[in-house]
Amino acid sequence: MIVTIDGPAGTGKSTVARRLAKLLGFNFLDTGAMYRAVALSCLKAGASDATAMGDQAGLAQIMFDGPTVFLNGEDVTTDIRKADVTEFSSRVAAVPAVRSRLVEIQQEIGRTGDLVTEGRDQGSVVFPTAEFKFFLTAAAEERARRRQHELAARGTHLSLKEILDQQDERDRRDESRECSPLAPAADAILVDTTGLTVEEVVDLLFGRIGFVPVVDRR
Ligand code: C5P
Repeated sequence: MIVTIDGPAGTGKSTVARRLAKLLGFNFLDTGAMYRAVALSCLKAGASDATAMGDQAGLAQIMFDGPTVFLNGEDVTTDIRKADVTEFSSRVAAVPAVRSRLVEIQQEIGRTGDLVTEGRDQGSVVFPTAEFKFFLTAAAEERARRRQHELAARGTHLSLKEILDQQDERDRRDESRECSPLAPAADAILVDTTGLTVEEVVDLLFGRIGFVPVVDRR
């Protein structure tokens, strides 16, 4: 079974998807981390045009071990969350050759078993026949505040205004790109997470799925 969770930055998608996967006993896929890894690879290689970015996506070996992300065998978990990579990831994500390569890998992962996958296009493009599709939203200020806390926990202190500006720019790029723009699938369940805790959102999604895990007691 495939569960997709899409939505803009700061809606709590990653944390919610990770917890929901654990609750269901499913694998978890953070597709944003894949775009971030390709962005890092491009920055390192100085790839700045679409052709060079597409080439980097073809070369990049991205692997996950739980929350740890490897790019060509190197642990890049921390590096892919840095500001320059965050900013560059939405540029890289607008390149069709990058998207088609990553979509191919994501669909391959989807064939290996039950999955909760999160991103921008999981329900609309990558897994159009997924059993459950959620699209999370939240008020822009609340999303920025969540990101501010997340960054502060990692030692980066930015004003709400700076974060809101960066967030607006990234949202604008994600929503306006020609290839797979950020948008809910027609059959996605829309969930406004404004004012809700992570636990409340997880409960809500889990309740919609109504899934009782089968425990093999042999
Ligand atoms: O979710 P996260 O903030 O880690 O994603 C980083 C960037 O990767 C997003 O701003 C978006 O441009 C891109 N992305 C995408 N499609 C996905 C996941 C992420 O375009 N499925």
